[in-house]
Amino acid sequence: MIDAQIAKEMYFKLCHRVDAICEQLSVDERVRARLQRPYQILTRFVTLKRSDGSEQNFPLIRVQHLNPYTTGAKPYGGGLRYYQYVDWDGKGIVDPNIEIMTWLMQLDAAKMTYKHAAVGPKDHLRVRFGGAKGCLGVDPRKVTKRELMQLTQQVVQRLNSEIGPYDDRVAPDMGTNEVIMDEFMTHYGTLNKGKHIPCEAIATGKSLDNGGCEGRLWATAAGMYDVFNCFRTSDEFRHHFTKPLTAIIIGCGNVGGWFLRFAKEQGISVVGVADIDGTIWRPNGGLENEVDAIFQCIKDKGSIKHYAAGEHLSLPELLAQQCHLLVPAAQEGMITAEVAKNLKARVILEGANNPTLEDAFPVLKANKVLDIPDIIANAGGATVSYFEWQQGIRGSTFTLEEINKFRKEYLEGGVIRTIRYAKKYGTDLHTGALMNSIDFIANRLKHKHHWDD
Ligand code: NAD
Repeated sequence: MIDAQIAKEMYFKLCHRVDAICEQLSVDERVRARLQRPYQILTRFVTLKRSDGSEQNFPLIRVQHLNPYTTGAKPYGGGLRYYQYVDWDGKGIVDPNIEIMTWLMQLDAAKMTYKHAAVGPKDHLRVRFGGAKGCLGVDPRKVTKRELMQLTQQVVQRLNSEIGPYDDRVAPDMGTNEVIMDEFMTHYGTLNKGKHIPCEAIATGKSLDNGGCEGRLWATAAGMYDVFNCFRTSDEFRHHFTKPLTAIIIGCGNVGGWFLRFAKEQGISVVGVADIDGTIWRPNGGLENEVDAIFQCIKDKGSIKHYAAGEHLSLPELLAQQCHLLVPAAQEGMITAEVAKNLKARVILEGANNPTLEDAFPVLKANKVLDIPDIIANAGGATVSYFEWQQGIRGSTFTLEEINKFRKEYLEGGVIRTIRYAKKYGTDLHTGALMNSIDFIANRLKHKHHWDD
């Protein structure tokens, strides 16, 4: 599991990779400096007042990384997560979650900048957001629904002066969903009443009744299939894909859950699924045919580990089982070098952000595993959020057909450029995807700051 040291290393290893790319692409020093430091790290505390009169404080971190666009209607954007990294009883003086969150949110906010810049239907047309990410250090399973709403209102209050539809807008991530996004928007609207702000655009991933966008709920998983199918049919990578295709999915929430729901129509046989409490393993596959029963079990009993039909392995055991495709769609840092050594999967499709540790990359390379990087693989959600944000700003709506078309075009553009950079510079896909983004950002920043003058 992630501790502060691992979280810090993950962030600095990304910084080193970015620095090496800047060197290779001869990126201006001023651009490099901006890539390597966030614009700001906001640290707050949120107090939950319980009905018995007791109080509990939770740390809140929001990091805004870099916005390569000129100011105006091009804000930062990125997920808001509710997650407790370390089981802390609240009795010590310093909450260890704070340090972990600070490093991970810097990492994720930077990745959001690169993700937004990675995808787009044309070389000059990308998702026009800077990158941000936030985390409230609470385990949503340990508070009531009412308390979650109270906490969400406090999150808005604490961040109100630094966020906005034109400054920084939030999206769902681990532990948050459309109910929380709806509440975020409603409370933001209450706090900013009378200011003529298009408040619907403060949050994306909202419910349809509250200005949400058709297809946003499953956009990340649907986008993963868009990306997956680009690779599956590409001349360069088609040999990695066999038929029939078996998959193991780690995480069964928004990303993993929708990936599982779509598996059958994509001709994928699911042999294993994990969530935070346990796993299910079915060597002969077929879990994709039992989606309703699986989600009923999670709803009624809280975890996939109670699903009767199959074996219950530990997570490391499940990760070492035979499959073609591994879909990490849960916490970051799950694919360590050790896990990578035991993997049987030929392809990894990174639904989660930063699921693979840097130390695992050489192992995956030596074993000829195709690792499709997060900033492309899971960019479907970020792409559709961009269109939901536009809906909120303009007061108009897109149809599902339009959203599906935009999502596919933006992601396919990202895949084509990633492969192009990886081939041109002879690198892995992670580096290729980052090169594509950094080259674009460097040009935008030069223009923004008139550095050519
Ligand atoms: P979620 O809260 O809806 O679901 C998370 C799932 O992961 C749950 O099934 C949970 O039980 C499981 N999980 C959490 N910690 C785990 C652990 N240590 N071991 C095993 N399983 C664990 O979250 P989500 O929105 O599906 O996000 C999952 C990942 O995808 C995160 O890394 C997130 O940043 C990334 N992501 C989400 C979106 C989105 O639109 N929601 C978009 C892009 C990337």
